[in-house]
Amino acid sequence: MPSKMQVWAPYFWTSPTDALFSRDLHRAQSHWRGEDRIWLLPSATTIHRWQTWKWGYPLSECQIPSEAFNLLLVVNLDEARRTYPLIDALGDCVPLGLYRKWLDVRPRLVPDKREVELEVPSISCGEVTYAIRNIGVELEQVARIHNFDPRTSSVKIHLPSFGKDGRPVVSCEDDPGVLLGRYDDGDVYLGDGKARENLEEPTPTIDCWIEWPPPFDVLFPTGSGIDLVYHQALMRRLLGEWQEGDRGQVARVAETWAARLANQATGTMNKAWFLPKLATSEQEALWALESFSGICAQSLRDLQDHAGFAALMSRSTSVLRTVGWLGYFWSEFLEDFSASALPAICVHCGRVMARIRANKRACGRDENLACFRSRHAQAERRSYVRDRKRRLATGVPKDR
Ligand SMILES: [Zn+2]
Repeated sequence: MPSKMQVWAPYFWTSPTDALFSRDLHRAQSHWRGEDRIWLLPSATTIHRWQTWKWGYPLSECQIPSEAFNLLLVVNLDEARRTYPLIDALGDCVPLGLYRKWLDVRPRLVPDKREVELEVPSISCGEVTYAIRNIGVELEQVARIHNFDPRTSSVKIHLPSFGKDGRPVVSCEDDPGVLLGRYDDGDVYLGDGKARENLEEPTPTIDCWIEWPPPFDVLFPTGSGIDLVYHQALMRRLLGEWQEGDRGQVARVAETWAARLANQATGTMNKAWFLPKLATSEQEALWALESFSGICAQSLRDLQDHAGFAALMSRSTSVLRTVGWLGYFWSEFLEDFSASALPAICVHCGRVMARIRANKRACGRDENLACFRSRHAQAERRSYVRDRKRRLATGVPKDR
């Protein structure tokens, strides 16, 4: 059976290798009793657990005293990647190879967005009430762009080089990659770097949010820091190295990141196996239950007082637990690597494409029609020019 997953996704982006976040996450995981949402509250002095109703489900929540404010959502994925809680933006189940789609999207830099509205619980005399709070964003969740150039409307971001163990070396000058972008209507895009008219006053430093396009905006609801862009660039670079045949380097880096951001853990059959199916379809969940355990029920009501069902649901099962969706992407990447099924980068358009044969260099017609047509148009032009040169050189008229 393919492995079940448990993604611990922070609401506010924090670098998964940040020491403070690691301490908060470790504390949360050691006190966790299967809750769906974990509030990391610096103002809290005690651990408190409660039930609430959200998104049409009963959810269990807890508050844990922490060093920094955050909200962790524990997303369970069953063996078919159905999720609980349900993530509408991803459909009934998370698409296979989600990281491949992520590698093809470009984030947008959004300046001057500083606060996020969030319904935050507070506990008084054991009673939980929620109130909307404006949460200010910490500086480390913001990308600080130092070298924005309004004359060329471009943003250059130096990517840190990645050491042999895959650890980013920030400010390392020896091997910086460069991303180009353009400034447009108040937003900075990581785009094509085209120069624009209408010069503005030079702005030496801009603080920006990195916003991801759908459906990744749901996985990173408050955007991310620049380190997520580094990881995307690193994965793309590894695909290139794999294409060149450097399997050793790809293995080292992918294994390092997957090991840092994922580990074997346990969940209950209820959360890890049954609820993802139930969130998609009650009938499907009941069929799966019957074929797995022999417990037969026409509806959920039949299961209410079923001792065998209760025992099965509380049974623990192994899951692969990842630190956020970045950990999920690295796990998928490593799985594809181990199965020799990594995708390739198209040499023509730069998009990620399925690699069905070793020497495939560009998108097929079914994968990306625009790339396919543009390549063939170029080939036809080249062939026309070649023919014309040959005719001119030999003096042969075209229609002889
Ligand atoms: Zn292509």
